[in-house]
Amino acid sequence: MQVSSEQPTSTEARLQLLLFVDERPSSRQQIQQIRRYLKQLQAEYPFELQIVNVGEQPYLAEHFKLVATPALIKIYPEPRQILAGSNLIEQLSNWWLRWQQSAEAQANLVAELAETSTKPKDLENLNNSGNYGTSNVAAIRSVADSVEVIRLSDEVFRLKREQERLLEQLQFKDRIIAMVAHDLRNPLTAVSIAVETLEAQFLSTKKGGFSASPALLTQLFKQARSQAKIIDRMIASLLQVTRGSSAELQIQPHKLDLIELYQDVEAHIQDRAFTKSQSIQTDLPNDLPAVYADRERVRQVLINLLDNAMKYTPEGGTIRISCLHRTTQKVQVSVCDTGPGIPEENYDRIFEERFRLKRDEAKDGYGIGLALCQRIIRAHYGQIWVDSAPNGGSCFHFTLPVYSL
Ligand code: ADP
Repeated sequence: MQVSSEQPTSTEARLQLLLFVDERPSSRQQIQQIRRYLKQLQAEYPFELQIVNVGEQPYLAEHFKLVATPALIKIYPEPRQILAGSNLIEQLSNWWLRWQQSAEAQANLVAELAETSTKPKDLENLNNSGNYGTSNVAAIRSVADSVEVIRLSDEVFRLKREQERLLEQLQFKDRIIAMVAHDLRNPLTAVSIAVETLEAQFLSTKKGGFSASPALLTQLFKQARSQAKIIDRMIASLLQVTRGSSAELQIQPHKLDLIELYQDVEAHIQDRAFTKSQSIQTDLPNDLPAVYADRERVRQVLINLLDNAMKYTPEGGTIRISCLHRTTQKVQVSVCDTGPGIPEENYDRIFEERFRLKRDEAKDGYGIGLALCQRIIRAHYGQIWVDSAPNGGSCFHFTLPVYSL
């Protein structure tokens, strides 16, 4: 149970109170006043006080049916009483004397009971007899029960949340697997057509029949290769999902030359940029220091960011990749485009798993790419963020540590 107690819990405490607080700045002053007032009261008549933060334990507020905070609950002696509202201190000062009197009366009865029923048997008889002593025992128990109920509610709430999280994860995996299986058909059909055409060509040439132009053959090979890459990307997304979001990301960092890596990636993206008549500009200084990073992982980040830039930027747009030796310890890589940009209120959310902007829901994708990029960059102790390009497009930036001997 994560309630903070201002006094050690004691079964001897005559008066037990719970103070429910929240973290809204607007309540801060009122809460401070209540706590100060309770401190004064505690000096004149000691009681047990537990502070509960509603934000951390909303189910407790539900348990006590609270509709406003701050709220003060007298849980012992019974009956339970709730004080809330802007004049809480005033209400408390009105009730304070009566609460003390009922606590005293209760304490006297408990003492009497202890005197008259020295043997457990007698206590049991009293408990079953329905006389005044019964309510004492019941009241004492109810405090213990309240605390136990709080503990159990805490556990039930945690388990419910865990169950919801697991169910959601399972449903998400099912959905993605179904979507990827469906989406794989298109590039697979395209590869099959290209390969079958090439095979037919090969057989026809062998028999001395019609032979296609080298340009057509090149085009078919290119088609098969680019579709195979699309399939590869989809499978990578699928693997990422099935591994689950909590899986630890393993990286194997080495000395890495970012410019050489970009040249490798460029070959991967050029076809696509060409198809959309997009131009790719680079600003890669020759004296850029090497970084200490996992080549395959950083390759994945670059490909994801460039793929997105090409996907979300309309035909004829420009994609610009630049590197900057930002500090002695960091290199910054930026991928900017002339696409529709990201609304500022979503600058953080787009890095969440499964988050996609509503406007882009009709486009291919699963909302996983940027979340994966963030995990990779963070595993390198780097940062990744987005802002707007001067022309309104988006600029994704990430940093990596400089390699030092
Ligand atoms: P996906 O592209 O598969 O949807 P991502 O995680 O890569 O998933 O991106 C999340 C969302 O961020 C996208 O759905 C899109 O709405 C937005 N987004 C990402 N990159 C860009 C970009 N370069 N320009 C505009 N919007 C983008």
